[in-house]
Amino acid sequence: MPYVHETLENLRKSSPAQTEFYQAAEEVLECLRPLFKRSPHYHEHSIIERIVEPERQIMFRICWTDDTGRVQVNKGYRVQFNSTLGPYKGGLRFHPSVTSGTIKFLGFEQIFKNALTGLPIGGGKGGSDFDPKGRSDGEIMRFCQAYMSELYRHIGPHTDVPAGDIGVGGREIGYLYGQYKRLTGRYEGVLTGKGLDWGGSIGRKEATGYGAVYFAQNMLEALGKTLEGKTCLVSGAGNVAIYTIEKLYEMGAKPVTCTDSRGTLHDAKGVDLDLLKELKEVNRASLEVYLEKHPEASYTPVDEYPEDGHAVWRFKADAAFPCATQNELTAADAEALLANGVYCISEGANMPSAADAVDRFLEAKIAYGPGKAANAGGVATSQLEMAQNNSMEQWPLEKVDEKLKEIMANIHRQCADTAEEFDEPTNLVLGANIAGFRKVADAMIDHGVV
Ligand code: NDP
Repeated sequence: MPYVHETLENLRKSSPAQTEFYQAAEEVLECLRPLFKRSPHYHEHSIIERIVEPERQIMFRICWTDDTGRVQVNKGYRVQFNSTLGPYKGGLRFHPSVTSGTIKFLGFEQIFKNALTGLPIGGGKGGSDFDPKGRSDGEIMRFCQAYMSELYRHIGPHTDVPAGDIGVGGREIGYLYGQYKRLTGRYEGVLTGKGLDWGGSIGRKEATGYGAVYFAQNMLEALGKTLEGKTCLVSGAGNVAIYTIEKLYEMGAKPVTCTDSRGTLHDAKGVDLDLLKELKEVNRASLEVYLEKHPEASYTPVDEYPEDGHAVWRFKADAAFPCATQNELTAADAEALLANGVYCISEGANMPSAADAVDRFLEAKIAYGPGKAANAGGVATSQLEMAQNNSMEQWPLEKVDEKLKEIMANIHRQCADTAEEFDEPTNLVLGANIAGFRKVADAMIDHGVV
């Protein structure tokens, strides 16, 4: 399939130094080869060339004043990647590692993830290289206001609806929403992840983590197994990791690890969820503080990680849930997981496994749920928040959770059926990519050349 190769080569030339974006694009396009062989009309309509190019990319300067009165400058981004299936939808990431390539990789993944939910949402992503760590509430507020002072002119409840991601939780969404309302005078569903008293959906905060566990449960059910009594490794200690851990306990499993940017915590008795919430949601403290209450737990700082990977993936377990960030699981980590008996991996984070780690999982034919399928519960519940905003209703938790379960089961079914259709029944990466792509590509053809 020379045009897959050519498209990837052209991307490298036209968008230099966007390595994470090439990684995401390569994974998707390589999986699509068998589809292109069967359905040459996608090539005739130049769908691949069109789908790897964002419809619009916005880059802007953000100036704000810190607590000492000094003016700070950051870069802001919003990539409106593909609006074929609905308004652009995808989170905002505030982290010092953010570049235009990071946002493009996340926006590209979001197109297919959103398509898999079966809901009318297109793909987008945004963020900034702003580092919220160590900043006061006042600084966070002023930064969010400055960010929204540019972003507000590009978004709207029927055009582009951002949400949270790394570094953007309920507090930041509040400040962003307040500024949008001040600038436009409109009270409308322009952001998701809002507070429950001002337009938010019950269950949105929990949705990504809960969804990743439902996805694992779906994969295990297909093997005649359950999560009951299973030992689980979780990375991250933010929104996705915390609610993954919460749902694992509800399912009768035992999550024994979590991580933050400074180190890895292992508690063989099971992570103390109340303490974790207090440390991370209330005090924004380091995981090391956990040991003050549980001295029997162990903590490995980042500088003591194995040279070829991460401490969290080196413990004995049945299942693993990477929920921190991209490329946090190397090929050596994958080998260690397999050697330690892990047979189920459900990705709460976006692209947490490096390409050669994914290859190991696929070769081993374990139950492996890629992020764009396994973590789609968050964006799906964001769309449920949009639906509630449009009808000025607030649904009870039971209704939201029931829908989330249904959506996750449906995503799993689509991935598994598509993998089966292409004679690779255990390859949910191929299933997710082809199923998501086909929906968007078919609709792009219906819409003509636009
Ligand atoms: P949070 O900011 O709430 O938490 C992120 C966690 O990961 C923190 O514990 C953070 O450590 C750690 N972390 C972040 N960057 C790094 C890094 N470079 N190295 C090591 N650790 C790191 O983010 P979320 O939980 O919302 O997001 C986690 C992942 O899930 C991301 O990949 C995101 O794209 C994905 N995701 C999130 C969704 C959502 O609804 N929020 C939806 C779908 C996917 P520290 O505490 O030290 O900052």
